[in-house]
Amino acid sequence: MDVTFWGVRGSIPSPGPATVRYGGNTSCVSVRLLDGETLIIDCGTGARNLGISLLRGDFGKGEGSATVLLSHAHWDHIQGFPFFGPFYVPGNRFTVVGGSHNSELLERVLERQMAAQFFPVQSYRNMGAHIEMRAVSEDREVRAGKARITAHPNPHGPTEVLAYRIEADGKSLVYASDVGYELGGPPEATVAAYRGADLLIHDCTFTPEDRAQRMNRGLSSLDDAVEAAVRAQVKRLALFHYDQDYSDRDVDDLVRRGRRLLDERGGKGIEILGAAEGLTLAL
Ligand SMILES: [Zn+2]
Repeated sequence: MDVTFWGVRGSIPSPGPATVRYGGNTSCVSVRLLDGETLIIDCGTGARNLGISLLRGDFGKGEGSATVLLSHAHWDHIQGFPFFGPFYVPGNRFTVVGGSHNSELLERVLERQMAAQFFPVQSYRNMGAHIEMRAVSEDREVRAGKARITAHPNPHGPTEVLAYRIEADGKSLVYASDVGYELGGPPEATVAAYRGADLLIHDCTFTPEDRAQRMNRGLSSLDDAVEAAVRAQVKRLALFHYDQDYSDRDVDDLVRRGRRLLDERGGKGIEILGAAEGLTLAL
């Protein structure tokens, strides 16, 4: 499978000269399986550029279909929705999957940002494509073509967020953004959900020092990301969801420091990289 980053920033877009290399758009990742199946993980503002790219293929002709996996509905994970071009092409089909008590509630939450007070289109129903909202079922299994997807709940401040593990084409990808573990790092059940992944995309909003000042935000530090990667013995760790105030140089420092921490904690064999807009990784 190919994994492409379209937005890697947390909380709010942060365009400008200091964020040109890693990018300023908020969370959005796409996955293309060998059989052509498209998965989209989160729809922050990065989804706009993903949409432009998809419109060049089947989605531009109204013949595209994709599954959208939402970790949660905070702004930086859904604000790209109204600007995602393929939603406006009749014939395209989407299943939007998220964590909620039921599908109607998930739909109501997502419809709120489409209300006339916020956006002129007023409803997903007016966008053109067929969009079905589906709450993650109780067994937390999600079907999308040949991909086997499981959702794992993590704490995120006062709310909950879903991590997704995608198994397809003999490879595994875990997306775990916006995770606020208790002090001491991820619990055993979480480590089990990440175990042995070929790629772990993990929240790395803060340096350990900054997280200590902002525990109530429910987000991870570099320390948490490294801890999760080492304990789960993943093959590759992609740092993700950087604080909006971090410059490219700050993110470079996170990656360098992450390398040192991995080496010190028994993760010498784990590759580390900083997720950047436009970067595609082949698994
Ligand atoms: Zn976020």
